[in-house]
Amino acid sequence: MNRNQFQYRMQNGLAQFMYGRNGFDNMARAFYIGSLILLVINLFAANSVIYFLWVGMFGYALFRTLSKNIPKRYAENQKFLAATAGIRKRLNLLGLQWRDRKTSRYYICSKCGTQIRVPKGKGRIEITCPRCQEKFIRRT
Ligand SMILES: [Zn+2]
Repeated sequence: MNRNQFQYRMQNGLAQFMYGRNGFDNMARAFYIGSLILLVINLFAANSVIYFLWVGMFGYALFRTLSKNIPKRYAENQKFLAATAGIRKRLNLLGLQWRDRKTSRYYICSKCGTQIRVPKGKGRIEITCPRCQEKFIRRT
C-alpha cells in the first residue's frame, strides 16, 4: 500500500465514521475554539476550575460532532446562531476593522444597525447612513 492509498483509506474511513453524524456545526466549532482558549489560559493559570471547564467544553463539542441526533443538534445550532447574532456581527466587524485598518473605518448605524465603511484619516466628518439617512459625526 503506497502513501496515496493509505491517505485514501484514512479519508474514506473517516467519511464512513462521520456518516450520519452531526459533524462540525457552528456551535461545535464555537465550543472547540472556547476549549482551545481555556487550554491556553490553563497553560499559564494551571487552575482546576479552568481545567474542568475545558473538559466540559471540549467534551460537549465532541458530543455535538459525533452525535447522531442530527435534527435535535440542528435545532440547537439554529438557536445558538440566533442568540449569538449580535456578538458574531461585532466579531465580524472587528475582523474587518483589523483587515482594513490602514484604509478604512467601520461604524454601525445606531438607528438601523447598518454597517458603514468610511475612508480613514479624514478627521471629524458627518456620516450619513445609506439605508435610513441617519446622520452622525465621527472622527475617522
Ligand atoms: Zn441607518
